[in-house]
Amino acid sequence: MAEIKKQTIPCPKCGKPLEIDMWDSVELPRDREQKEKIMNNHFFGAECGTCGEFIPVGYQCTYNDMERKYFLWLLPKLGEKEQQAVLEYNERLIKDNPFRLARSGYRHRVVQSISELREKILIFDERLDDRYIELMKMAYAPIIRQRLQTKSRITDIRFQKQPDGEYSFLVIFDDRPPANVLVDMDTYDGTKNRMENRLEPETPGNLICVNAGWAAEVMGIAPDSQQNGN
Ligand SMILES: [Zn+2]
Repeated sequence: MAEIKKQTIPCPKCGKPLEIDMWDSVELPRDREQKEKIMNNHFFGAECGTCGEFIPVGYQCTYNDMERKYFLWLLPKLGEKEQQAVLEYNERLIKDNPFRLARSGYRHRVVQSISELREKILIFDERLDDRYIELMKMAYAPIIRQRLQTKSRITDIRFQKQPDGEYSFLVIFDDRPPANVLVDMDTYDGTKNRMENRLEPETPGNLICVNAGWAAEVMGIAPDSQQNGN
């Protein structure tokens, strides 16, 4: 069972004490209700009893989908201690035989925000591959800026599913409203066909970040010259 710790912080809206339930883990299929809340953005944080506002708070938590075989570790603060814990997990994947067998065929990702966690759940539940999505974001970024005729910096791109089932990128800028750009899945297939042979042997099965920094590294581009997706 998940361990739930309580933490009280002052509500950033009204200043009254706000009690947050902090789960150490969410496990599918057991915690379906919690998953729904994550996807509706009502899991990490609490509704303030005084002002009624839902206050999102990200904290360290694991998400393990045993049916679809993926493990996400939300680490909003990726400091030395957290990096050490990731290293230890990856060591265990090598040295601990029963553990390695239990995690066989798994995809492992470190995520650093609630929105990144939700994005990975969507991608993996749709049976897509987050690596090709990240490479697509990198290819889309300059095209989107050109199409919108903007020099604004892109601070984030999130993969989304529209109510009608189409996929889109929600593009966040530093100084203008976000744009929702439909994603052509032929581009996804094209990216996959082009990159598959190179990525399959290179991507390890252990816990890694797959984000804008990862994509830039794969393409051999300094992350600073690209949009920063973290
Ligand atoms: Zn409040």
